[in-house]
Amino acid sequence: MTRGPATSAPLPAKWRQLAEACCAEQRVRLTPARLAAYAELIDAGHPLSAYELIALLEQRQKRKIAPLTVYRHLEFLMRVGLVHRLESMQSYLPCEHPDHAHESQYLLCSSCGQVDELESKRLEKLLHRIADQHGFLPSNAVVEVTGLCGNCAQST
Ligand SMILES: [Zn+2]
Ligand SMILES: [Zn+2]
Repeated sequence: MTRGPATSAPLPAKWRQLAEACCAEQRVRLTPARLAAYAELIDAGHPLSAYELIALLEQRQKRKIAPLTVYRHLEFLMRVGLVHRLESMQSYLPCEHPDHAHESQYLLCSSCGQVDELESKRLEKLLHRIADQHGFLPSNAVVEVTGLCGNCAQST
């Protein structure tokens, strides 16, 4: 039986609509390849490194994909705000509320790998105020807190 390769991970309608609305608003093109990379991140359910993402895409599309291509997709997705990069884990995760610009705080579970994205305006304001007191002009303030999530903390 010849069947075309499944080119994209299943992407729930909610996420597809978010991604499409986000790109339409910024007048950028969400190509099938960009959408496929995004779908893979959503489908994984946890942050992926660029190489994990490449491996998943290659497996699904049954072909070699140049790493640079995937890095470009990730750059695009980050620029439009659909994906965030976790510096401490060198991995990428889909934003939970890409409809507005924001700075993010993350709770990273070092046991199960689950990541919670928070959006605390209070913490954001505090960070900017502290920077201001130092005469520092921040352009981006990301907070990554590592530890154990509720489930993992209970089972230890
Ligand atoms: Zn976000
Ligand atoms: Zn956990």
